[in-house]
Amino acid sequence: MATNGCEGRLKMIAELTTNAEQIQDEVLGEILSRNAGTEYLRGYLHGQTEKQLFKKNVPIVTYEDLKPYIDRIANGETSDILLAEPITGFFLSSGTSGGQPKLMPVTAEVANKWELFRGLYESPAMKHFGDINQAGKRLELMFARPEIETPSGLKAASVSTSIYNECNFRANLPKLYTSPVETIFCPDPNQGLYCQLLFGLIQRDEVVKVGSVFASTVLRGIKFLENHWQELCYDIKTGRLSDWITDSGCRNAASLVMKPNPEQADLIETICNCKSWEGIIRKLWPKARYICCICTGIMRQYTTELEFYCRGLPLVSDLYACSEAICGMNLEPLCKPCDISYTFLPNMAYFEFLPVKNEGDGSIEMKSNNEDTELVDLVNVKAGQCYELVVTTCAGLYRYKVGDVLMVSGFYNNAPQFQFVERKNVILSVDQEKTSETDLFKAVTEAKALLDPLGFILTEYTSYVDTSSAPGHYVLFWEIKGKEGTHCKELDPKIMVECCSRMEESLHYTYKIYRKRNIIAALEIRVVKQGSFEALMDYYVSKGTSLSQYKKPSCIKSEEAMKILDSRVIGKYFSPKSPL
Ligand code: AMP
Repeated sequence: MATNGCEGRLKMIAELTTNAEQIQDEVLGEILSRNAGTEYLRGYLHGQTEKQLFKKNVPIVTYEDLKPYIDRIANGETSDILLAEPITGFFLSSGTSGGQPKLMPVTAEVANKWELFRGLYESPAMKHFGDINQAGKRLELMFARPEIETPSGLKAASVSTSIYNECNFRANLPKLYTSPVETIFCPDPNQGLYCQLLFGLIQRDEVVKVGSVFASTVLRGIKFLENHWQELCYDIKTGRLSDWITDSGCRNAASLVMKPNPEQADLIETICNCKSWEGIIRKLWPKARYICCICTGIMRQYTTELEFYCRGLPLVSDLYACSEAICGMNLEPLCKPCDISYTFLPNMAYFEFLPVKNEGDGSIEMKSNNEDTELVDLVNVKAGQCYELVVTTCAGLYRYKVGDVLMVSGFYNNAPQFQFVERKNVILSVDQEKTSETDLFKAVTEAKALLDPLGFILTEYTSYVDTSSAPGHYVLFWEIKGKEGTHCKELDPKIMVECCSRMEESLHYTYKIYRKRNIIAALEIRVVKQGSFEALMDYYVSKGTSLSQYKKPSCIKSEEAMKILDSRVIGKYFSPKSPL
């Protein structure tokens, strides 16, 4: 099924990965020869460009270290204090939503790399599913945020917004996507989402791919559909757009294509009216070949629910990238979500890896230490070992810790493949114990298995440490849904108490010891009503996060966000006994 273009791109990937070592050296050589004279690098390299000197002298940094330079540029100083190539703008990086957005310099070369990457990362899926560009359209949920202007007049936008703004993207939009540009740029994400679903349903016989950047946005779309399908069907039947869609761009776009279509509306109504929404995506978009969205990392918690809705269709997680650098792509689009790994592309940045210690009990301890740990080059990482990602880019990041922990799962030619492990931050801690995103995920996975046979799905969770009384304890917020539309109130409270116990049993040894010694009090699960996590997402979006790049925090730190969840609690359950 592969097309010529696709074959050419796969060949390019094969060449890049085969020559990974040489390309990495070239990438670093070029970055250093261009930028050795900048104020930042001069301080460490004194104008020299040797790799060994770079490795010896240039420090490993975080955003906070570079922020003074970036702020100076944003405030009007010339960008050559940090990089030689002129800056054309900034990407707004969220990392995980909830923190302050970071400004990442963007240059013409960065834009070129993104353009090249966009051509490459879809090619493995195209090999399997055919050239979807020729076969039909993509129903992709996309949400732009308004650009911010820095005092120097440079524009800052999320990566996705910057892509939606590109001339090429806009020119191809009507041919390749079901969503008109007005719906993507609609200032009210709910109106935009309604219209994107409407356009996707009107063109349902043309849709060959359904997706969004992240799994959580696809689910947000399905949940929105659950609440609005009758209204959408009414609009399709009558050819009139609902009155609450007041955005003039959306209304104009709709007026160009909407005409009464009662047959289509009846068909959609019959599909949506069934008791179970299992496999709903395939039923609504019968020609869809696959669902595409990132479902690793913090997104893996959504895979069970997403698989339920897309039953019968492969779920493809195709890329790993961040505002700081493009990293890798998934060469095995058909692999199971738990096996997804990303092959790094050596031409995108200079990659180094800080070893992270694996604990004996399988958990990972964040002990990576800048002073006494040597960074490992891309081609020298070891299978099975975990690392923290450090990037040096053409856009002024030198030995910059992205904050992601990855595990080497294998190699493709000479380029390593990584599974995403977690964001590097200890998320829960009452005393000396440290519970990471992965620890929490494992414990939640064990506990939620109790719900499955009873016909319930844990759709969302997050956590926080409650220290309002001593000793402190872990609190989990759970949103639960019945597979057949049953209400979570019908769930036996004993099961929830059992879930608390199961979570505690599944947490790491230190947690259990502390629990036994009453240094940590009983774990609590607070069940929140349906829609609570959508309200949380709305809150973060109202604070400036792009809906396309939203990543729910694994641990709630903001008071306001806490209040949103706490005000929606419908049941509180505690672990009845210490886990040891
Ligand atoms: P942003 O800076 O807003 O673009 O967010 C980038 C971050 O999103 C990365 O540093 C990762 O933590 C996360 N991310 C991006 N792609 C993936 C992926 N394929 N799997 C897991 N997490 C990802």
